[in-house]
Amino acid sequence: MATVTFDNATRIYPGSEKAAVDKLNIDIQDGEFLVLVGPSGCGKSTSLRMLAGLEDVNSGAIRIGERDVTHLPPKDRDIAMVFQNYALYPHMTVADNMGFALKIAGVNKAEIRKKVEDAAKILDLTEYLGRKPKALSGGQRQRVAMGRAIVREPQVFLMDEPLSNLDAKLRVSTRTQIAGLQRRLGITTVYVTHDQVEAMTMGDRVAVLKDGLLQQVDAPRNMYDRP
Ligand code: ADP
Ligand code: ADP
Repeated sequence: MATVTFDNATRIYPGSEKAAVDKLNIDIQDGEFLVLVGPSGCGKSTSLRMLAGLEDVNSGAIRIGERDVTHLPPKDRDIAMVFQNYALYPHMTVADNMGFALKIAGVNKAEIRKKVEDAAKILDLTEYLGRKPKALSGGQRQRVAMGRAIVREPQVFLMDEPLSNLDAKLRVSTRTQIAGLQRRLGITTVYVTHDQVEAMTMGDRVAVLKDGLLQQVDAPRNMYDRP
């Protein structure tokens, strides 16, 4: 677990005159669930990708805990990211999908097994460990994608519209599951969505972006009067 700091973080895409994200300042607390919300094009993904190390920061800095990670590659940031198209390996079982990153990292089999079993228990996937992804529902696949991230025990969890491929009903139940899981694990989480209801129901705090500028950051209960 760790704090996350956006310190005047700015991203200007090559060829563009305007910053996609302009002097973003947010202090995220240890264990906090922070949601970045706003309309399409406001800079949510760019912000998350700067934190992930997938996008250059043109000025300002990003810190995870005490570490300045602004110029570190993604693999050295101790983060795990769940994308909206959480592509699972179709030919591998759920267990192998979840353990794959650890296997690549050279973790021994017994340890991987233990971590995969623990994550499966938390995510209610134990009975599906031997199945292939195509034999799972959309919500179950989504949980496998989360499991793949959890087994690495990152300091920070990043999610970019992870529910957008699910139908409306499943989105509601899955968002409850994700929020509950985050609270149990207590892992610092930055979650991107364009959906205000999702933001308000899931976040400890919600950061509202518009045209690359941060409009406000507050707990949902303090935001209800706002458009
Ligand atoms: P959001 O995630 O809120 O939809 P983005 O962070 O994707 O917003 O985009 C913010 C702004 O940056 C938009 O104006 C978008 O068109 C622009 N943008 C995003 N990615 C690129 C890119 N690779 N090159 C140039 N401009 C980009
Ligand atoms: P390999 O496929 O390399 O011969 P395994 O059969 O042990 O090795 O599976 C690969 C990885 O997937 C293992 O490291 C293990 O963690 C995970 N795995 C496979 N089956 C299970 C299971 N039933 N429960 C938990 N983890 C499993």
